[in-house]
Amino acid sequence: MLNIGSHLSISKGFEAIGRQALEIGANTFQFFTRNPRGGAARKIEAADVENLKVLMQEKGFSQILAHAPYTMNLCSAKEQTREFAYNTLVDDLDRMECLPGNLYNFHPGSHTGQGIDTGISQIADALNRALKPELQTTILLETMAGKGSEVGSRFEDLRAIIDLIEYKDLMGVCLDTCHVFDAGYDIVNDLDGVLSEFDRVIGIDRLKAVHLNDSMNYLGCHKDRHEKIGMGGIGIEAFERIINHKYLRDLPFFLETPNEIEGYAEEIALLKDKYIDLYDYPF
Ligand code: FE
Ligand code: FE
Ligand code: ZN
Repeated sequence: MLNIGSHLSISKGFEAIGRQALEIGANTFQFFTRNPRGGAARKIEAADVENLKVLMQEKGFSQILAHAPYTMNLCSAKEQTREFAYNTLVDDLDRMECLPGNLYNFHPGSHTGQGIDTGISQIADALNRALKPELQTTILLETMAGKGSEVGSRFEDLRAIIDLIEYKDLMGVCLDTCHVFDAGYDIVNDLDGVLSEFDRVIGIDRLKAVHLNDSMNYLGCHKDRHEKIGMGGIGIEAFERIINHKYLRDLPFFLETPNEIEGYAEEIALLKDKYIDLYDYPF
């Protein structure tokens, strides 16, 4: 079965977001842990979380993905920004413990002129201070487009961060199709080659989730502008290969395309239609 959902707003609570996911044909979803531009997180109501857990169990949801705010920059040149990011990370991970066994994804950060190596060590340092072996969440580094001074547009950056982490078992990667394409990885003409490269550099078992986004731009543009599925530089045939690839097909897929809720429902239906369910073929 294809595990697919979209980014949804958590503004009405956990149970509501689970029900909205079901309404659009999803069996997972992504949400922001707090306002994407930063700020306070909403209060967690224990009963609301319990209701979501029951719903997820009953309806066979796959892992859900919590996304950190974009402002969370663990490798800013400004110490105050790094400290704010660290506090956000600690608080988010603590809150995730009410939904054990799920995923927490963040943008590694932008080194803002300090250089990639300083960025990598600052990100790893913050993670090493924040991670505790008893955490029940898998923490994902997102592959980035390489806009500005972003860290994580090369698989080597992500590997270098993970290499510095004490509790490596907690770490994984979320591959964003728009971002890797914009970073210069040709998932349109050489998906196998890109995924082999991922395996060689990071290890394919670190890959825990995929962000499905088309790109408004061209291969290697370093822009990061998401497009609707099939309407951009990646195209529907490439997405068909992506969701069916042996390295990816069992992972949870999350749409972050420029859509309202109806648009997400249509894209989910389209991708389900393109998915070859191997359980339909008893060999
Ligand atoms: Fe992201
Ligand atoms: Fe993404
Ligand atoms: Zn993006």
